[in-house]
Amino acid sequence: MPLWVWIALGALAVLVICEELRIFKVDRECRKKDEIFQAVTENAADMIALVDVKGHRLYNSPSYKRVLGYSPAELSETSSFEQIHPDDRMRVLEAAREARESGVGKRLEYRIKHKDGSWRVLESVASTIRDGRGDVAKLVIVNRDITERKRAEQQLEYNLFHDLLTGLPNRRMFMDRLQSAFARVRRETGRSYALLLANVDHFKVFNEAMGTKAGDHILTEIARRLSAEMRQDDGAARDRGAASDASLFRLGADEFTILLETVGDPSDAMRIARRLQEAVAAPFPIESREVRASVSVGIALTTAAHVRPEDILKDADVAMRRAKAMGGSRCEVFDEAMHTRAVGRLKLESDLRMALTERQFRIHYQPVLQLDTRRIMSFEALLRWEHPTQGLISPYRFIDAAEDTGILVSIGHWLMVQACHQLREWEVNDRSGSPMNVTVNVSARQFADARLANDIQDALQQTGIDPSRLQLEMTEKIASADPKLTVTVLSHLKHFGIGTVLDDFGTGSTSLVGLTQFPVDALKIDRSLIREMQTDRSASDIVELIILLAHKMNLKVIAEGIETARQLERLIELGCEYGQGYFFSQPMEAKAALIFMRQQFVSRKSAGTS
Ligand code: C2E
Ligand code: MG
Ligand code: MG
Repeated sequence: MPLWVWIALGALAVLVICEELRIFKVDRECRKKDEIFQAVTENAADMIALVDVKGHRLYNSPSYKRVLGYSPAELSETSSFEQIHPDDRMRVLEAAREARESGVGKRLEYRIKHKDGSWRVLESVASTIRDGRGDVAKLVIVNRDITERKRAEQQLEYNLFHDLLTGLPNRRMFMDRLQSAFARVRRETGRSYALLLANVDHFKVFNEAMGTKAGDHILTEIARRLSAEMRQDDGAARDRGAASDASLFRLGADEFTILLETVGDPSDAMRIARRLQEAVAAPFPIESREVRASVSVGIALTTAAHVRPEDILKDADVAMRRAKAMGGSRCEVFDEAMHTRAVGRLKLESDLRMALTERQFRIHYQPVLQLDTRRIMSFEALLRWEHPTQGLISPYRFIDAAEDTGILVSIGHWLMVQACHQLREWEVNDRSGSPMNVTVNVSARQFADARLANDIQDALQQTGIDPSRLQLEMTEKIASADPKLTVTVLSHLKHFGIGTVLDDFGTGSTSLVGLTQFPVDALKIDRSLIREMQTDRSASDIVELIILLAHKMNLKVIAEGIETARQLERLIELGCEYGQGYFFSQPMEAKAALIFMRQQFVSRKSAGTS
């Protein structure tokens, strides 16, 4: 063999040996790296796995046993792929492929089966190990168990969108759904949806009378019945081949709403409302008592007039309030007239606020007289609103709105102080020397307001008026709304030395016998009974009976709305001792009242009855 061949073979041998030595070195380095890798992963909390490019397990850190329950032997017998949740498998495969190809792994979440059969959620990141040729040879996968964190996140998300008492989706979820329904209707012509707003009647009374625990119980029971009814309705709709698409939400304390995303006919909404009302109406036992609740339902349908999703909610609210105003346990569908009324009402409410700050309220006084002697016993203070453009407005037109907004409490306080000041002023100017009283009407809210006692004390202190010269009138309706509270407040007033009158008697539901529970001083017979006394025999009998029984209970009787001499005569005959009405005088300004006092004094003096 020529020499050059030997030289070439020698060089080749040297090259091969060098290459072997290099591979040996790389291999040794790799082994060393594996050892370091193992040492690092052995005590790690995360699960660390080493897999080859085909997905075969080369190494699993001991934390696999702690987190997923499998021993190393069990792991080597099972396929890692099969432990992955079937729905997540494709994503995991795709991520592994990407990591192999790009050399960079993405963060991934997937579910894996615990040895006990439960699913754990893992968060994993893969990184690659290349071989000597620079090709990806292995993947290092770091897995972290995030099951608890996920559960907490889900709980948080659930709490954010659900009401914790009833478990129903809450207002936030409702607004989300309403927004989507609104957007869909805008996109797809011919689509419409409806909203049912159900409010529990007199819920406040339940809560106050039976305690909040019982109140919660009532709400949960109502929520349960509404849900059950809707599931049935859903089933029935499916049976008919129709999609009802109804969802129930709890909007606030005692308010539930149902979003009907597909309504063929408005009567669908009406039918559902009636069924829900029936479901709520069945009695349920609470603390060994039987309680009956009811809901008032307002229904509104999508219209072109709605520019924001919440507009339909406002309409449903107006209809619901109307259902309540008409006695509750009713169902009303929103219409345009309601809208006009609601807008008018809103304007009235804001005007009333302004009227108070602009001092537009006035007080007129109507005398209450002793019927046989015509001696003035007191003046009833009656509120008037001197409107800048509409003139003097009767309380009948604004008292309910003022009461609903709560502004009547402030007006009432102002009136009480003002009336006591007036009494003081009359006293100074009237030399007849007859002791005079003032009577003030209190509203339901004022009556239930803890500030009432302070307001009274404030008025008396400011004016130096003796408590016995102030009388408070509350209607029979207010008194019987919450008898327990009425008794407490009336006893308190009596203790103060303040007189109390049950107004508009005979129009409400209080039985005469039931009256004995209220510590009042007088009854004021409603003017409707006085008016009918002449024409209707039964009205006359009722008046007679009221006078008889009231006297038996040591209550004074005042007749309201005496307009004729005949009415006056008959009342005197029946033994009624006090009265007021146009026959004597209309309510009048303070100055006119003073003149009336003087005239009355003079005429009584000349008649010799003073
Ligand atoms: P009320 O307390 O029963 O007052 C009697 C009402 O009957 C007064 O109406 C009075 O003007 C009217 N009236 C008196 N005599 C006659 C009569 O012979 N014939 C007729 N047709 N009517 C007569 P007014 O002043 O319009 O007050 C209406 C109601 O508004 C009052 O009824 C009372 O419930 C309420 N109200 C008035 N002022 C106040 C107030 O300051 N606070 C509260 N909470 N309510 C008030
Ligand atoms: Mg009155
Ligand atoms: Mg009255």
